[in-house]
Amino acid sequence: MKYLFLLASLGVATTGPAWSQRLAYTVEPAGQATDKLRVTLTYQTADTTQTTFHYPTNFWGETNLENCLTELQANMPLQRETTGDWVVVTVRHRPGQRVRLRYTIRPDQHDTLRNERTFRPIIEQGYFHVYGFALFMKPLRYWASEQDQQKVRVQWRLPKSMPFLSSLQPQTASRVQVTGRRSLLESSMFLGGKLQLQALPVGQTQVWFATRPFRHFQVDSAARHLQLAVQAQRAFWQDPGPPSFLVSLLPTYDPWTERKHRQSVSGTALADSFSAFATDNKGPAIASRVDYLLFHELMHTWIGHQIRIRKEERQYWFSEGFTEYFQTQLRLRTHLLTPAQYVAELNTEVVRPLYLSPVRNVPNDSLNYQRFWTSRDYEKLPYRRGFLFALYLDNQLKNTTPHSLADCMRAILARSYTTNREGFTDAELLAIIRETTGFDPTPAYHRYIQQGQLIDFVTLSLPPGLRVQPAATDSVPVFEVSGPPSEALYQFLIR
Ligand SMILES: [Zn+2]
Repeated sequence: MKYLFLLASLGVATTGPAWSQRLAYTVEPAGQATDKLRVTLTYQTADTTQTTFHYPTNFWGETNLENCLTELQANMPLQRETTGDWVVVTVRHRPGQRVRLRYTIRPDQHDTLRNERTFRPIIEQGYFHVYGFALFMKPLRYWASEQDQQKVRVQWRLPKSMPFLSSLQPQTASRVQVTGRRSLLESSMFLGGKLQLQALPVGQTQVWFATRPFRHFQVDSAARHLQLAVQAQRAFWQDPGPPSFLVSLLPTYDPWTERKHRQSVSGTALADSFSAFATDNKGPAIASRVDYLLFHELMHTWIGHQIRIRKEERQYWFSEGFTEYFQTQLRLRTHLLTPAQYVAELNTEVVRPLYLSPVRNVPNDSLNYQRFWTSRDYEKLPYRRGFLFALYLDNQLKNTTPHSLADCMRAILARSYTTNREGFTDAELLAIIRETTGFDPTPAYHRYIQQGQLIDFVTLSLPPGLRVQPAATDSVPVFEVSGPPSEALYQFLIR
């Protein structure tokens, strides 16, 4: 079997199109083992005698990923060492020789799926859910820069009857050739095996929805809300989005959340896809937290993926905070939230945790990779600070100009297709808001984002029917709907 496979692999590689340096991966189950994937990498080396490959050991906040990389072999002598954030594999070869590396990827933790390990390879119970960064060892010099685009072939050899989906287009194909940045490969997603797969029609396109059974939650209702989310977001952006889209939603088990009757959800937006995880705990909160998660991650299709930022953590006030603001607005628009629930969520999820956060006043520049991934307080800061800045700006624009912040978002989207394909700086985002509305947000940005001052909503004019009670004893202001929920408030908020 092994021998046959090798022949087939070489056959594929030699009859492929002529690339300057060819990189191909074949992924398959590792023999009878149900908790491993075997990866074969073939790479046409350049005119050198040594090639270095990288596999991350610290990535997306995960550490020691090297434990997932096992049984590494090559068709020539290799040297493996861990240096800094990387497993570094060096092979010596003749100039132009084809290197073939083979390794297996396996989970290094085997508990019932906890939220803390969902970024790591999940290969268990007859299914797999893995991200490209933890699957693909990459030749160091194949991509000359972050922006460089190169061709890669990815082929999955799975039993014919096994369901399979990937973030790479076309999403049902087990063999694809893509041209993209290194990050396209790193933030790809692959899943298959014992999963419930649904093709949800939305307009002319399809959303693939992959789940596992939940005990305390109706997956069908999440599917309907996902369709609503896609329709609402396309309408908001006036943009069709990708030709097809993949969403995974898996149940996780966290003993502490069950004990405390809490729900823990997490998700990651990727190209043309996102993954989502929710604790499978009893209680009414789970459905609304899953709605939140689906709308949030889907919003990143535009804010984050199409509208790119230049400096990760430093611009999360925009890519996470504005995502939070507009996904909440769209849940209101689709009536998954009532105005009263909108205001309640504003208090409990944004205002109160921000005002009580020990880092509520730190300057924006203090946010970096290390703090974001290791401190829950820092991690949540840009979501909440950015939300309130968006609320402030939107309110100012609606009260003093004929425009709304949504108009500015569509103007930013238009630029993302023309002059700002590589992303936006803060100054560029602010300039577009000023050009679109005539209102200059720069002074407020310096105060509320850069310096980290809290916004004094008490002194501002608010939407009709919304008021804010000054901070009580614990110094946290409270938003309230004054009087019966009014159509005017709803219309103001969704404009
Ligand atoms: Zn996000």
